[in-house]
Amino acid sequence: MVEELRKNVWTVNRCSGCGMCVSACAKNVLQFPEEEEHPILETKERTIGLSHVVIDTCFFCEKPCEESCPRLKEWKDGPVIRAVSVISKLPNGNVIDALLVSALRCGFIDGAIVWDVEGTSFKPLPKVATSENEILKSAGYQYLWFPVLTALNEAIYEKELRKIAIVGPPCVAQAVKTVLSSTNKKLEIYRDRIRLVIGLFCDGIYSHQLVTNEIVNRFNIKPCDINTITVDFRNALLRIILYDGSEKTIPLSDVRKYMRDGCARCTDFASEWADLSVGNLGSEKGKTTVIVRTPIGENCLDYAIREGTIEIAKTPVNMEEIQRFVSDKKRREQAQEIDSLLLSTLDALSGKKSRKEIEEMLKSIGRK
Ligand code: SF4
Ligand code: SF4
Repeated sequence: MVEELRKNVWTVNRCSGCGMCVSACAKNVLQFPEEEEHPILETKERTIGLSHVVIDTCFFCEKPCEESCPRLKEWKDGPVIRAVSVISKLPNGNVIDALLVSALRCGFIDGAIVWDVEGTSFKPLPKVATSENEILKSAGYQYLWFPVLTALNEAIYEKELRKIAIVGPPCVAQAVKTVLSSTNKKLEIYRDRIRLVIGLFCDGIYSHQLVTNEIVNRFNIKPCDINTITVDFRNALLRIILYDGSEKTIPLSDVRKYMRDGCARCTDFASEWADLSVGNLGSEKGKTTVIVRTPIGENCLDYAIREGTIEIAKTPVNMEEIQRFVSDKKRREQAQEIDSLLLSTLDALSGKKSRKEIEEMLKSIGRK
């Protein structure tokens, strides 16, 4: 059984839905059904005589799933080398595409896991892109959830990529960081193949029901009318751009109910553990903020400048604006503390912790 995941992540709704554990599962017994808030461990039975015996598939396993889960780790503030405001020189004006295209041209990566949507339903899908054309044709991140790291095995075993870039929200960057700093042998192939993580600014990700239940009904449109969904953090709005060029908006407070449960326990807004964090906050209209966090990220930005896919703007980044959102999201730590209290209460019931310890925890939460 995957006890750590079950007890410390799934039962307290902390799963971010990154999908890393599903890819890492050595026995292929973890699945992530679309309607679930966390992966499900497949039950295997064996018939012995007249009885059915449930087999503990995980008994002899080194548990790469637990080793790679970002929610079983504590996260401090991530590094920052520098922050710049940039302009994409690609015709589509997309900075993430510009970074990936130049990294591909320079041979720094040989493919990338990017975000796409299924045309008629606007359902999010990961895409393993191995050419400039495939990168440019993908729809990009639409703030709709998919366990994107489940595409890692396709990238490694089917497409045989050796230098993979990944684009995703902060929890995805944390999952990759967890894998890169692990010594678990079963995770070696991922450590060996992942080269670059481009993280996005994120306050929460939404289920596809946001499209089917809210957007479609509120504006009397079809999913295939939608071109792009973006989050305007400054004005707390969801912006929906349609193919006819018109724009619809919904206050973020109206769509909270479609946000994944795990996001309520997430404290990383600015992808602090990615190589590069990318988002519109902190930059003027038409420009994008790139926070360089690692030497790998620095190289990647240099390639883009050299290849002419990105130009650095003269205006500095307004880090105070970003910091406001970073600090706001860090307040969700309280939800994590309440989870710990709940887990400790369960431990107390089973005699593993004393009543006094629980009272102390409760007092410390109350003081904050
Ligand atoms: S956070 Fe990611 S790795 Fe952890 S249980 Fe959820 S899907 Fe699996
Ligand atoms: S808020 Fe963003 S980074 Fe955090 S769990 Fe949700 S999707 Fe992942």
